[in-house]
Amino acid sequence: MHVQRILFNSRPGNNGAPVPENFRLEDTSLQPDLNEGEVLVRTLYLSVDPYMRCRMNEDTGAGYLTPWRLSEVADGGGVGRVEASRWDGLAPGDVVTCFNWPWATHGVLKGSALQKMDPQLVDGHLSHLLGAVGLTGLTALLGIREKGHVTQGANQTLVVSGAAGACGSIAGQVGRLDGCSRVLGVCGSREKCAALVDELGFTAAINYRRDDVDARLKECCPDGVDVYFDNVGGAISDAVISQMNSGGHVVLCGQISQYNKDVPYPPPLDPRTQETLLRQGITRERFTVLSYMDQMDAALLQLSTWVRSGQLKVRETVVDGLENMGVAFCSMMEGGNIGKQIIKDDCGRVA
Ligand code: NDP
Repeated sequence: MHVQRILFNSRPGNNGAPVPENFRLEDTSLQPDLNEGEVLVRTLYLSVDPYMRCRMNEDTGAGYLTPWRLSEVADGGGVGRVEASRWDGLAPGDVVTCFNWPWATHGVLKGSALQKMDPQLVDGHLSHLLGAVGLTGLTALLGIREKGHVTQGANQTLVVSGAAGACGSIAGQVGRLDGCSRVLGVCGSREKCAALVDELGFTAAINYRRDDVDARLKECCPDGVDVYFDNVGGAISDAVISQMNSGGHVVLCGQISQYNKDVPYPPPLDPRTQETLLRQGITRERFTVLSYMDQMDAALLQLSTWVRSGQLKVRETVVDGLENMGVAFCSMMEGGNIGKQIIKDDCGRVA
């Protein structure tokens, strides 16, 4: 069987921005004969995520992440359909997902590593299983609920950075649904600001590339900031934290502004920001979604219910073709996406 796959070609270096040439496409063949316990899957959608930048380094800096190895097939979150199975729990036609899906049009995977998904959960929009009703949605929902201390009726102001991205766009909406009275998004373009306010129900948005972030924060958050869902770190986070109320909470979700730098995770804070956290009694606990997998089923059901009822709006940036994985990854790292960055594999072409 003819397959296409994406190999990890070169490392950008701990202090460099990734380029599409860090990946390369390979045409090859796959022996579809299955051993006991194996499943042949056809890829439908692949996820493109910031944590993959850490996997491009020899040392990922995180115990739970293995580095990609040079000239081997890259992998990450994926959704596909079973084509043949020698694993009791799966049959041809089943929709399955896993965190270590090979970047390939087809793959032979261990059945035990795959999770069977009910397409009804996403009304047939299978890409949502990688986004709003997948790890992204879980990160937003559980991050807000575990670390945000959002309370109905408490008149809280939530600020989200990376707000027009996959996690941010959901986190802001979850904050609103859970009771925040004001939700402000910080993101990198005018188009993104418009999407946040006009489509996703944010109260206001700041374009950090153009606006005076300090001044706009003051204007949009007249009562200060109570909860900050931080996806980016760096100067944006310093500005937000400087306007936080005492007893506030930072959800330390990610620090993408620092991922192309050779710094530990989480990166060291500006001493003034550290001082503000201490003085104001603001919590800033690291959040890792994988620590809450025992809550996954209930949380996915909640996200599914909200998406299907229209209470939670979903944006995606879908790029066609496995061969574009590298381009899509680099674009996402530079802000080319609104909502979840997804690759749709057009593998019918090469089957
Ligand atoms: P996004 O869809 O948000 O894509 C990344 C976005 O980051 C870009 O669109 C860009 O938007 C923004 N960005 C890139 N560089 C910078 C910069 N220098 N300053 C400010 N913004 C920047 O990705 P995800 O939603 O998948 O991930 C968001 C964050 O959540 C990441 O930090 C990621 O590591 C983290 N994460 C954490 C998890 C956890 O368990 N803690 C799980 C999953 C994700 P813009 O145009 O606004 O610049």
